[in-house]
Amino acid sequence: MFKRIGLYILAAGCAYGAAVSQVASSSQTSQANNANAVTTGQAYNANTVTTGASQANNANAVTTGAASQAIDGTTGAASVAPVSRFTEAELAAAVPAPVYTDCQKPGQFVITFDDGPNPKTTPRALQFLKEHNITATFFINGINYGDVENSPATVDLIRQEFNEGHEIASHTYYHHDLFEAIDNGMMEVNIDKMTDTIQEILGVKPIYFRPPNGNGAYPANNNPERQAKNEKVQKYLGAAGYKIIMWGADTRDWEHKDNLDKIIEELNKKLKAPGVSPETHSFIGLMHDVHAITVDIVLPKVVEYISSLGYTYVSLSECLGLPSAYQQETLVSAENSNLVAGDDLTGENLTGKEVDDDSSASIIQIKLVSSFIALILSLFFLL
Ligand SMILES: [Zn+2]
Repeated sequence: MFKRIGLYILAAGCAYGAAVSQVASSSQTSQANNANAVTTGQAYNANTVTTGASQANNANAVTTGAASQAIDGTTGAASVAPVSRFTEAELAAAVPAPVYTDCQKPGQFVITFDDGPNPKTTPRALQFLKEHNITATFFINGINYGDVENSPATVDLIRQEFNEGHEIASHTYYHHDLFEAIDNGMMEVNIDKMTDTIQEILGVKPIYFRPPNGNGAYPANNNPERQAKNEKVQKYLGAAGYKIIMWGADTRDWEHKDNLDKIIEELNKKLKAPGVSPETHSFIGLMHDVHAITVDIVLPKVVEYISSLGYTYVSLSECLGLPSAYQQETLVSAENSNLVAGDDLTGENLTGKEVDDDSSASIIQIKLVSSFIALILSLFFLL
């Protein structure tokens, strides 16, 4: 009698255990596949950013069609399937990223730079800012005038900007116009890759984002196509925790170059508009630290001019009344921010899926333990 009960329990326990371990191994396989799928276009980080130099790393970095096309994607890259970090449901529920063009308090002026760093020019901008005790915001790219994948100087400059108290923000990885990037399936990778790059280098996730050419944040003016693209950009950035920073005082330094009169004239379109003064208005200024003329001539002139009008320089965070330029809840652990070449980034590091994976792993463990107990129990009855 006892033996028969024991045999039943033994048979049931073995069958259950076998079934569970099969589920466990197939779930591991799918997890692994999943990780590969999710991190395509993200593998770049571990290999590229921290070392920044070797060709082998570069080869590793480009693991998918998406990433490889992105390299030279500024020139009408063929469409690829977008790799989204968020599900359709998450994007549908996301709050669109808010758009800022000025500060909370009148009299404030923020210096912001786009498109850098450029090892040939950015150091001189940093020197000037230090001498004048100004905190600026750098909206940086991964690959533009600098190259985080192949130029250690570029990576060092991002660290230097951060260590000298400036705020580091995203301007996309490849400096793609996001409207074009949407058409090419490249919007997501441009946003996510820059987020991850900054996180890899500095250990923080930025909060501020500026779209190249402003596309994605200009009012759509009843243009349904633009409106739909704006929504797509703003929802994705919102899901990724970003705020969009536009500008109120553009120097158009890239156009006017060393023509300082033209640059002041350009600024005056906004600064000297009727009713505008430091008593009532504030400005987010726009320059590009990637041009020698900007850092050597335009920056000193603009800083002197803005001061003479009575504005005070503040950081972007102070301007917006925010405690930090970085997403507090997403600070990475030390091991994540100190990746070295050859380290394998799994989906868990970047996708936030580890909670689900961990919990399913522990359920499997519990099931295996219970079938082991059944085995012991059946042996007890058998003996
Ligand atoms: Zn730009």
